[in-house]
Amino acid sequence: MDKLSYVSAPADGPWATYQSQIDEVVPYLGRLARWSETLRRPKRALCVDIPIEMDDGRIAHFEGFRVQHSLTRGPGKGGVRYHPDVNLEEVMALAAWMTIKNAAVNLPFGGAKGGVRVDPSKLSERELEKLTRRYTSEIGIIIGPQQDIPAPDVNTNAKIMAWMMDTYSMNVGATATGVVTGKPIALGGSLGRVKATGRGVYVVGRETARRMGVSLDDARIAIQGFGNVGSATAELFAGNGSKIVAVQDHTGTIFNSAGLDIGGLMNEWRARGGIGGFSGGERIPAEQFWDVESDFLIPAALEGQITADRARRLQTRIVLEGANGPTVADADAILARRGITVVPDVMANAGGVIVSYFEWVQDFSSFFWTEDEINLRLEKILVQAYRRIWETAELHKIALRTAAFVVACERVLMAREERGLYP
Ligand code: NAD
Repeated sequence: MDKLSYVSAPADGPWATYQSQIDEVVPYLGRLARWSETLRRPKRALCVDIPIEMDDGRIAHFEGFRVQHSLTRGPGKGGVRYHPDVNLEEVMALAAWMTIKNAAVNLPFGGAKGGVRVDPSKLSERELEKLTRRYTSEIGIIIGPQQDIPAPDVNTNAKIMAWMMDTYSMNVGATATGVVTGKPIALGGSLGRVKATGRGVYVVGRETARRMGVSLDDARIAIQGFGNVGSATAELFAGNGSKIVAVQDHTGTIFNSAGLDIGGLMNEWRARGGIGGFSGGERIPAEQFWDVESDFLIPAALEGQITADRARRLQTRIVLEGANGPTVADADAILARRGITVVPDVMANAGGVIVSYFEWVQDFSSFFWTEDEINLRLEKILVQAYRRIWETAELHKIALRTAAFVVACERVLMAREERGLYP
């Protein structure tokens, strides 16, 4: 197959991981395999320059991206990440995983993702607002409530979504609440959105435990990442009887075989922006996190964390992927050989985009649901989608990730075939 000429992706990077996931699925696509090359390339990738005047008068330039991997089944949908490591290759992979995720849970969306190469902790609030507004203006030519709808991801939140919504609205001359999701409630945000991804991780984990005959009572959980996804996941597992034995974030790794106090960790995170100084457990070296004995290991930070070396060492039964792309392709194969079940990101962390979908629908109809309704509908969609993926895995005797890709790619390629090629 022809390679994309503008990508020189490292063999162990996220784009290569995504490509090898597509390699795995093609043999199961039957006649639709003819269209599979469309999955291997983004429909559209926009790189933008973001110049802003800093508080000290300097003009600083930042690189921004928005990639629409597929618009075949509906508008683009996917988060915006602010991180110093963001690059085009990473955003392409994250956009592609959104295509797969949205199709795996059958939402009427394509897949997209955005990012800015910046360390937001080094910006003042004013600088962060300028950066967000200029980025939104630059990508304004391809986003919109019917075109592509951004949402929060790593280091972005409801406040940033509010600036994005306001900037887009000012540019088009109308209040366009549906242009982003994950907004504050006062601007048409949805109840339940903040914790939706963590809730989804918990629901999918609970379903996995049920199907595998694992009890959640006293189940030992290790979580990497204690941000939006990791903290909500930890709260729900702990609230349902499990023990959070280890937590790691960028400030440190804390271990307690008797189970960490999640309320205390939340206070520490809110007060200091990280859990590294938490006194309710033993501080251990970062690399030791991967040797902690657990029933569930939940990566909820960044991609590429479960390398081949770590996959050989993990002492767990189930890897439940809260983060996007946390397991590299070689590691996936090693985990399969070791009999460790991997619940893929496109299923495990789909709760966020499902409630984003609810937010988008509520904005269009200007009719808002209760939190109970949101949580019930979220659970229903997740459980139904997971059942289909679990049955597909059993039918073909394949890994859950490949099964999720089979279900999703069939949906995308069927839609592609029905639409036909233009012109
Ligand atoms: P966040 O910014 O709220 O939290 C990120 C966490 O990762 C923080 O606790 C940070 O300390 C930790 N971290 C960063 N670098 C680390 C390192 N080198 N070692 C250990 N920990 C590190 O981000 P989030 O929204 O919770 O997203 C986490 C993951 O979940 C990402 O992969 C994201 O794409 C994915 N995700 C997020 C959502 C969502 O709704 N926010 C939805 C689906 C998937």
